[in-house]
Amino acid sequence: MKLYNTMTKRKEEFVPVEPGKVKMYVCGPTVYNFIHIGNARPMIVFDTVRRYMEHKGYEVNYVSNFTDVDDKIIAKAIEEGVSAEEISTRYIKECKQDMADMNVKPATTHPLATQEINGMIEMISDLIEKGYAYDVNGTVYFRTKKFEQYGKLSHKNLDDLRSGNRSLLVSGEDQKEDPLDFVLWKPKKEGEPFWGSPWSEGRPGWHIECSVMAKKYLGEEIDIHAGGEDLIFPHHENEIAQSECCNGKTFAKYWLHNGFLNIDNRKMSKSLGNFFTVREIKEKYDLQVLRFFMLSAHYRSPLNFSAELMESSKNALERIVNGVDHLKRLMDVAQEKELTQEETKNVEELKALAAKFDEAMDDDFNTADAVSAIFEIVKLANTTASADSAKAYLAQLKDKIVELSDILGLIVEKAEEILDEEIEQMIAKRQEARKARDFKKADEIRNELLEKGIILEDTREGVKWKRA
Ligand code: AMP
Ligand code: ZN
Repeated sequence: MKLYNTMTKRKEEFVPVEPGKVKMYVCGPTVYNFIHIGNARPMIVFDTVRRYMEHKGYEVNYVSNFTDVDDKIIAKAIEEGVSAEEISTRYIKECKQDMADMNVKPATTHPLATQEINGMIEMISDLIEKGYAYDVNGTVYFRTKKFEQYGKLSHKNLDDLRSGNRSLLVSGEDQKEDPLDFVLWKPKKEGEPFWGSPWSEGRPGWHIECSVMAKKYLGEEIDIHAGGEDLIFPHHENEIAQSECCNGKTFAKYWLHNGFLNIDNRKMSKSLGNFFTVREIKEKYDLQVLRFFMLSAHYRSPLNFSAELMESSKNALERIVNGVDHLKRLMDVAQEKELTQEETKNVEELKALAAKFDEAMDDDFNTADAVSAIFEIVKLANTTASADSAKAYLAQLKDKIVELSDILGLIVEKAEEILDEEIEQMIAKRQEARKARDFKKADEIRNELLEKGIILEDTREGVKWKRA
């Protein structure tokens, strides 16, 4: 498997730090509002990377943080007259809902910056001790000049940056030794959340959060560090400086960055106001369509959002869903019999197409070509499957389409419809089981209904049910 490493600007063979395991860190959102579909792009593409790694047999430890202390969160809290914590808690919950709706798996760990302050104080102290950081009146800065490799990820010309930043220096900031030095800890301002530290009552800078959380949950050397391309500089550059100076080891082997989601060829962003939230899209589309749209382009390419592209994504996804549904209906009537010679030959074709899917994904996660391989299987199914086909042949086609789609996080099997009548019958059976004190069976029935999206509620007036 090859992946493009921003650090080396080349596609490289993936060799994990520890055989069979992938340690992956993806910078998460700052939670002060509903996420927009630009923020959703890294969530979807790196969830797909994770799923593919799992398909390849790796055990993936996937860590993605929530930045829950930040100027924007504080500003929103003041605007609403509530605490910063209330704002971040609210939008973490909403973000997790959006992720679930986009079929983005929960991370192995979703750490919160505010819960990791001690670790940050420890790392900052360590950096000061080693001479990589300094305290000026309660503000702690990283000493970039001491880290010779500073700039290695973004390949920026540091002299240009220094002179550019020098002219931008605003009063109060000239306490820095160098224009490129960045904040590790800053003193509180009136009304802001703060924590005690050896330097001042205050809060950590943004970059230190990720260095600390990656170390705590994944270790000092990780395999993949990912995020949107706007994070390359300064955020990821600064994370490297902090982690490598503190730990004395290479921080991450592979740096993956997604391209921007644009609208009218401009980056979608909160500050420009040219955004759609995931919630807004959900009003119009099943979010599987959004996921399909995101995966129809290579993750490193810019992707322009438009209503037309969403419509064509909807139609394309429907073709797969209908193909699967058709196969299922044929399976209901097909006979259990040996595969014909023709069908055996088609199974070979099916295997070749599945290999093509893997080949595309092995080439730096070329999801667009992987989707094309799925379409070729759907076409094979549409042209060769009939009610006369062997049931096992139909099953192989269907299972492969569902399996490959699932690797991309696309759900293409229509949920089984369960009729009211069947629900009532199952509830009656559960009541009988309970009367007979067979609670195990009663629980099994409840769970079976839950899997079909039916929630039971035992009330004084009897059992009530609703669809989830
Ligand atoms: P933020 O909350 O702005 O720090 O963003 C969270 C994640 O979303 C980061 O990985 C960003 O790089 C990414 N991101 C923000 N806007 C876009 C966009 N328009 N296209 C792609 N990724 C984005
Ligand atoms: Zn980060």
